[in-house]
Amino acid sequence: MLVDSDFSAPLLESIDDPILRAHDIALSMLRLDRIHPQISGNKWYKLKLNLLAARAQAALTVLSFGGAYSNHLVALAAASKLSGLRSIGIVRGEAPRVLNPALQFAQQQGMTLHFVSRGDYRNKADPEFTAALERRFGPFYLIPEGGSNLLGVQGSAEIAGHLRWQREAGPRLVLMACGTAATLAGVVSAAPSGCEVVGISVLKGPDSLSPQVSTWLQALGCNAPARWSINTKFHHGGYGKTNAALNDFMAGFESRSGIPLEHVYTGKMMWGLYKMIESGEIAQGSELIALHTGGLSLNISSW
Ligand SMILES: *Cc1c(COP(=O)(O)O)cnc(C)c1O
Repeated sequence: MLVDSDFSAPLLESIDDPILRAHDIALSMLRLDRIHPQISGNKWYKLKLNLLAARAQAALTVLSFGGAYSNHLVALAAASKLSGLRSIGIVRGEAPRVLNPALQFAQQQGMTLHFVSRGDYRNKADPEFTAALERRFGPFYLIPEGGSNLLGVQGSAEIAGHLRWQREAGPRLVLMACGTAATLAGVVSAAPSGCEVVGISVLKGPDSLSPQVSTWLQALGCNAPARWSINTKFHHGGYGKTNAALNDFMAGFESRSGIPLEHVYTGKMMWGLYKMIESGEIAQGSELIALHTGGLSLNISSW
């Protein structure tokens, strides 16, 4: 069974660069990406209580869902193997002739991959779909896409315990990239009331995340949470999309800080963070902690 001592505590790494200095901003990144070589970033926090629940129910198999590049399926495959559980990954889209590195890794960890059409994938929460999967694979503990259920939110609350502030006064903000915003809901539920939590949505379109965050906070009985908001301005065309400006920005940040980013999540978060500093939306004198939620676990050579 995977236990807490298999993970390193995430370090807060402070970032120094001319833009931050010019605006009197203290910025550090909470390196959740460095807690484990294979189970990177926020995904472990979302999985942790789900795997405990699977164990409590004496489940032998866990099943979950994701796209072909799912960081969640990668983390689940590794965490299941280390926990002695069989894992099944339901993957959106037709089976490719050659598996990409994410799926190859998941399979090497022992995950059974099952590809379904985009149409079927959309119906993945239907009871009939679950029943068909049970007929095919036998009984399993079901973890929703991204590990984003209430146990995932509760597990993510632990992240708030790693926040440390250096400045005595001034606004305090925690920033993170949001896909389902389960991680954000967890952090908000446990964040000190004096700080504000800002999510940068990586999805295009109207904000569908805020109502879900409110529902999770209510379900946790969290009546007076820390202030929070979701910013939908920095998606760069939608999930997984990138462009030259974002790529250049990420390369510049990486060369100044030595901290790698990727374009799906953390690159967009940091882009938004710098844009909000430059526009004055983040006030001079603020202290920021940005969550490095991972997404680079397949660069295993960097370990
Ligand atoms: C999954 C993921 C997120 C999004 O987490 P949510 O809880 O779905 O909002 C953010 N960053 C990275 C690197 C991820 O892999």
